[in-house]
Amino acid sequence: MRALIIGGGAAGATAALALRQAGVRTVVCEARPSGGADLGAFLAIMPGGLTALAALGAETRVRDASFPATDIEVRDADRPAELHRSDGTRVRPRTLTRAALYRELQAEVLDRGAELQHGRRLVGVEHRGDGVEARFADGSAQHADLLVGADGLRSAVRRMLDPAAPEPAYAGINVVYGSAREVPDPFPDGYRMIYGSRCYVGYTTAPDGTTWWFARIPRPELTRDELDGNGPQDWKRLVLDHLGDDRTPAAGVVRASGNDVLAVNARQLPSTPVWHDDRTVLVGDAVHACSPAAGIGATLAFEDAVVLGKCLRDVPGTTAALHTYERVRRDRVEQLVAAGAGQAHTSAHRFAGTSSAGADAGGGHHADWASPVHAGRATPEPHRADPGGSTPRGHPGQWGH
Ligand SMILES: Cc1cc2nc3c(=O)[nH]c(=O)nc-3n(C[C@H](O)[C@H](O)[C@H](O)COP(=O)(O)OP(=O)(O)OC[C@H]3O[C@@H](n4cnc5c(N)ncnc54)[C@H](O)[C@@H]3O)c2cc1C
Repeated sequence: MRALIIGGGAAGATAALALRQAGVRTVVCEARPSGGADLGAFLAIMPGGLTALAALGAETRVRDASFPATDIEVRDADRPAELHRSDGTRVRPRTLTRAALYRELQAEVLDRGAELQHGRRLVGVEHRGDGVEARFADGSAQHADLLVGADGLRSAVRRMLDPAAPEPAYAGINVVYGSAREVPDPFPDGYRMIYGSRCYVGYTTAPDGTTWWFARIPRPELTRDELDGNGPQDWKRLVLDHLGDDRTPAAGVVRASGNDVLAVNARQLPSTPVWHDDRTVLVGDAVHACSPAAGIGATLAFEDAVVLGKCLRDVPGTTAALHTYERVRRDRVEQLVAAGAGQAHTSAHRFAGTSSAGADAGGGHHADWASPVHAGRATPEPHRADPGGSTPRGHPGQWGH
């Protein structure tokens, strides 16, 4: 079987690894002209994501490019800080830049001998005989037995599968990301999470001394003009305005930042009606996007890849394999995306702490490669209580950005 994977991000790169591991020949077609070094911001990979990467033998590169978070300190403008420490036996979330994640995963894909083509933007798909013909913006076309749509939040493959498919919706918060070399109050052991009066800020200091921060601000969606026209200083001002007179270290971190500051609208896609047809299937944000505030999108993308690979390995017939993939994954991801949606508003609901997307993705779900998948049964991956989780109890999901 030959598979074309559309998109070379978290889902596409790991799908390429999983499918090759299942004996499928893969070609990754990525729209970006190069490897994603220009991607801004950073992300945290939950323990469940590291387990999924390990199932694909791809954990080492990501581990080497990232650093662990041991502690989470929770601060409130009016209360003393609370410190939660992960016990040393548990796997910890790891932080790295988005550019580094792309770079390492794509390097792994190339190391395994899979083909990765940059500058290939999918513009059309046609079913031809027993396969699919994918057409690209550069005028080229490729034939494959299976097309994997790993083309992210604004997936073209999702629209081609189902023109009526919902688009991701605004989750109610702007998220601003930045970094600073010298901050007055660094936090090198994990994340310091600060509940301000109008804005929620988290930051962590990497071993090289860089402090990475995010601010979640519940407010109307940023307009296209703001996204295109605003610069780093505008975004810093937006955060500082929302920090007001709060007496926390947050303002010092934001002020210390230079020009490495960007903002996004948090979006989510809680449910996609059509996950596949007989020759096309969706993975990652293309089929279930979480608000970045949940901090689990990449973890879910890695898990999708492992499960899809196993289904193609174990279930006879492509249609039955894709059907089984959906049955194994749909309930879990829909529950976690819904839980993550609750976290989008943690800054408004201060310490509500009811949703646990981060905690669950933190280790409650074990994606392994060895256990078999059975056709037709909605057999979830083995589920253990908390095998390698590290999200401190009492504050689930606060690792998310
Ligand atoms: C700022 C930010 C912070 C985040 N923080 C976290 C975090 O802390 N933890 C976490 O787990 N998740 C986080 N997320 C979410 C996480 O990044 C996503 O869930 C994850 O990247 C999904 O992977 P994906 O491969 O599905 O999509 P993407 O990583 O978006 O990759 C999709 C790829 O498809 C390509 N593509 C798009 N259209 C086409 C086309 N027509 N043809 C060919 N290629 C195409 C794109 O160029 C892109 O490379 C964050 C997201 C953002 C934006």
